[in-house]
Amino acid sequence: MDTKLIHGGVFGDPHTGAVSVPIYQVSTYKQRRVGEHAGYEYSRTGNPTRAALESLIAELENGARGLAFASGMAAISTLVSLFNQGDHLVVGDDVYGGTYRVLSKVFSRLGIDADFVDTSDLDQVKAAIRENTRAVYMETPSNPLLKVSDIRALADLCKERGLLLIVDNTFLTPYWQNPLDLGADVVVHSATKYLGGHSDVVAGLLVTKDEQLGEQLHFLQNSIGGILGPQDSWLLMRGIKTLGLRMKQHEANARRIAEWLREHPKVKNVFYPGLPDHPGHALAARQARGFGGIISFDVGSAEAADKVLESTRFFTLAESLGAVESLISVPARMTHASIPPERRAELGITDGLIRISVGVEDVEDLIEDLGRALG
Ligand SMILES: *Cc1c(COP(=O)(O)O)cnc(C)c1O
Repeated sequence: MDTKLIHGGVFGDPHTGAVSVPIYQVSTYKQRRVGEHAGYEYSRTGNPTRAALESLIAELENGARGLAFASGMAAISTLVSLFNQGDHLVVGDDVYGGTYRVLSKVFSRLGIDADFVDTSDLDQVKAAIRENTRAVYMETPSNPLLKVSDIRALADLCKERGLLLIVDNTFLTPYWQNPLDLGADVVVHSATKYLGGHSDVVAGLLVTKDEQLGEQLHFLQNSIGGILGPQDSWLLMRGIKTLGLRMKQHEANARRIAEWLREHPKVKNVFYPGLPDHPGHALAARQARGFGGIISFDVGSAEAADKVLESTRFFTLAESLGAVESLISVPARMTHASIPPERRAELGITDGLIRISVGVEDVEDLIEDLGRALG
């Protein structure tokens, strides 16, 4: 994997020998005769810089086809437009807030329905499948409680029922987890997070296991038009080169911090799949190569959470995750604020729940910072 990150997809530029793929800042391409061109005709349909990124992510996820979009939500919306009026989706109940919003407020109006269930419980998924269900959509580990869902078991169920299995792999990235190898049909990424890794680009990616579905999604990408531009495609490839270095450091830091938080008297509950007593630990260890860099922990109340959020120096109060700098947030009032309070309570997203995205800083500095803030 470390070698693929550097040599996967397209390496450099065959015309000049440049070791970095050039930024093809171009919208259209000269045709020799009508319909006779060098592989590109218009940059919404295809652009060489974007194509290099698309082949790289396909290779990293062991898929047939990669597609790059202007954001994670553009990727997800294009994917959902595969479905027709009257179709039904079974979706994880703590998926990313924007995914919940686009399904419940936009696609529902167009007659594509979704039911939200706990995908870590296979029976709940089975019970939600209807005659018109077309796909199961999930994230693992989930956000913010880091519940782990069994990709292979869900893939087997989907195969049996003729459904697509879609996995949002943003939290672990292909560095730690390859859902297509476990039987999923489509992988989704908000590349804004770990793949970009530096809080400087918004982007989304899709990868399909088979070429035919890839072609269908390319048709939708070209028809709807939410493509990633050449500058951002290049920036993302630049980020991906150091994905391995970063993911190893994020995880090493997160493990230390999770263990430290668990011993802290002011912390009630720590959610991190790398902790041996996390309910999804064994499954996570089986289906992924790492546990990632996101930790949630409960300090008991909104007031206590506010004190921590206002006092950290190296953990920046911000939405998003997955970048080199550590970030801190309160899901109940930030990323998950659009979920009604009763529903949040059911899901276990309490007012005192804090989520941290552990960066790649010196872990002793991060622990000292959290210690001071908790104190
Ligand atoms: C951020 C995020 C998204 C949405 O991606 P954008 O790039 O912000 O549009 C989707 N899924 C997950 C898990 C995310 O964290």
